[in-house]
Amino acid sequence: MIGQASSATLGDSAQSLVRRYAYGGILLFALLVLWWGVEGPYPLEYVSNGLYVVMLALIIGLEIWIPYTPSWGDIRKASRADVTYFLLAAPLDALQMFLLVGLVAGTAQYHHYIQVFDIWPSGAPVLLQLLLVTLIVDVAKYWYHRWTHEVPLLWRYHSIHHSLDRLEMLRASYFYPIDIFLTVGIGTLAMIAFGVGHEIIIFHNVYAGITGLLNHSNADLRCGFFDHFLNSIGHHRAHHSVGLPGSQSNYGSFFNLADRMFGTRYLPEDQSSFEPLGLDETYDMPDTVLKQLAVPFRWQRIHRAP
Ligand SMILES: [Zn+2]
Ligand SMILES: [Zn+2]
Repeated sequence: MIGQASSATLGDSAQSLVRRYAYGGILLFALLVLWWGVEGPYPLEYVSNGLYVVMLALIIGLEIWIPYTPSWGDIRKASRADVTYFLLAAPLDALQMFLLVGLVAGTAQYHHYIQVFDIWPSGAPVLLQLLLVTLIVDVAKYWYHRWTHEVPLLWRYHSIHHSLDRLEMLRASYFYPIDIFLTVGIGTLAMIAFGVGHEIIIFHNVYAGITGLLNHSNADLRCGFFDHFLNSIGHHRAHHSVGLPGSQSNYGSFFNLADRMFGTRYLPEDQSSFEPLGLDETYDMPDTVLKQLAVPFRWQRIHRAP
């Protein structure tokens, strides 16, 4: 009995340690691996793909071991739509890289107008370049995301991401295809406009993808002091809530600086629950991918004015 009790306490304290430090630990680990990917001997694409697989396995494990809201579930509760959107994300990302980096930036010597500024410090330390790039991309993505909420025509497709009534890692890519293409693509375009190198673009996009997985995960990770400057998990859960003012806030991507600058940062003191999530009762959103693809074109049947 005593042995059982002490192993239970050991398990509890291991869980509370992980709750407290895993968020920062994962961000730091991913940063170091990608940095090594840029500086090290192996192609960055291999390193980033390997890291991505490790991250998926790690976050799934955390969702099962320390769920934030047990009723949201984890990968075992995945619907066909969850899996379809998840599988679509990688080819859509490859497509935006091919079109923007491969075709548009790769042929820049013929048209010259993609790189708007010729000031990028390509010789600066990699982490400094990553920081600069993230600050720039954050502003571009902030406005794109905010417009998808405020411009009715764009909300017609972004609303599909907000139809999620529970969050788990696999749902990080639950977006209308053009929405996820533009979210990543606008960041890539901003980097190309500043003349950022190919490897820094990959570094930024993969790192942003990992923070996206964390922000949608159902793992109970406390962000602590990261809440002050990152658009951390609580910020994004608030963004998905129906009742809290957070649904009109937290449009930023990595840092919460853009939300602070434009007055839309919101994080409640009590982060124990953000429910209910999703859309209010004026929406009648279908739950299959094929029907969701048609949503922007039959909006009158999806949303009735309150
Ligand atoms: Zn949104
Ligand atoms: Zn989201």
